[in-house]
Amino acid sequence: MPADRLAQIPPYLFAGINRLKAEMLAQGIDVIDLGAGAPDRPAPEHVVEALKASGADPASHRYPPYDGTPSFKRAVSRWYDSRFGVSLDPDSEVIALTGSKEGLVHLVWAMAGPGDVVLVPDPGYPAYRTAALLAGAEPIAVPLLAEHGDFPDLDAVDAGVLARAKLLFLSYPNNPTGAVATLERFAGVIAWARRHGILVVHDAAYAELGFDGHVAPSILQVSGAREHAVEFNSLSKSHGMAGFRLGMAVGNAEAIGALALLKSNVDTGVFQAVQDAGVAALDGPQDHLPVWRALYQERRDAARAGFARLGWPEVPCGGGFFLWLPTPGGMSSADFARTVLERCFVIVAPGAAYGDAGEGYFRVALVSEAGRILEAIARLETAGIRFSARSFHGARSFHGARSFHEEGPCS
Ligand SMILES: *Cc1c(COP(=O)(O)O)cnc(C)c1O
Repeated sequence: MPADRLAQIPPYLFAGINRLKAEMLAQGIDVIDLGAGAPDRPAPEHVVEALKASGADPASHRYPPYDGTPSFKRAVSRWYDSRFGVSLDPDSEVIALTGSKEGLVHLVWAMAGPGDVVLVPDPGYPAYRTAALLAGAEPIAVPLLAEHGDFPDLDAVDAGVLARAKLLFLSYPNNPTGAVATLERFAGVIAWARRHGILVVHDAAYAELGFDGHVAPSILQVSGAREHAVEFNSLSKSHGMAGFRLGMAVGNAEAIGALALLKSNVDTGVFQAVQDAGVAALDGPQDHLPVWRALYQERRDAARAGFARLGWPEVPCGGGFFLWLPTPGGMSSADFARTVLERCFVIVAPGAAYGDAGEGYFRVALVSEAGRILEAIARLETAGIRFSARSFHGARSFHGARSFHEEGPCS
């Protein structure tokens, strides 16, 4: 019998979708998966070469230092300096992570417990919320508001909640909404954190993927921010290294120290060859980035134009690799995701998976070729699925029409 704390984790909304997908694939059906956010670009060649070379060196086969190799931590510090103009002490303000998700979850465990509140953006990356639950703390959602530049209205947070709040999570460019931050917004958050003694945890997983010339700021660029903030970064999205499992947390030395202490009791560091590949990634040429940004932006534009043809409003998307769209007629996000999978063999992520404010939305990942994304949209069109704010337009033609199971997949 698993521990009670596991029962608190909300049901995984993708479970049903993944089961259906597996059945369809087994039947040989061509499923287009726009749900998962796994980057489709491989790591640059020089990164792979560094991994191979270091992997072949017996020195890498030993236990690595718990909190990161000195060379990786110095490379992170150099990269923050050149990319953001932020200087970091590699010994006390930088830690290597087995991917940033691991670090985010362990930071909550290190900094919050029963009686504490963790403020989580709604919609937001689900791990923030589950990390709070696993730590025995209480996650409280703060809605992202268009009228606040897609930031939460922190002055609206209840005083009783504020008094118990230890951490505030934020992430820009945002998964799932594609919203981006300005330095002014970050400065406002840091001023609020200073007033209330709350640690801001900024997840910058998509910092290198700004569109239309947007260069994502680091929250640590705000003066005095390291007193009140830590920032998580990942090489998964920026350097195609999702499978390598390498990320870093930087900033507030007390929080980095607490995370290091906790982690030293949980894991024993990241494979040195992976950290050496990380050094190559951070120190080496970044010329894949403009190419990838252009590619994702091209897919975003193609997807936006395709959805616009079916009546969808043009949604903002300033970075990351997701489009965040309303469901037709206010249909529930789970019903919509299930409908497009059953009728069109297309997977989208139901917005409710990202919080209550995600209900009535769905997320489209831009990690497939533009042609596949457009084919998915064409399948919706064939099925008569269009956007209308008032009603679910596809409904009538749906019930009347034969399903694709009978007709064969729409090509
Ligand atoms: C992908 C992602 C991460 C996790 O990345 P890692 O592979 O664990 O480094 C963290 N935050 C957000 C918002 C993400 O989308």
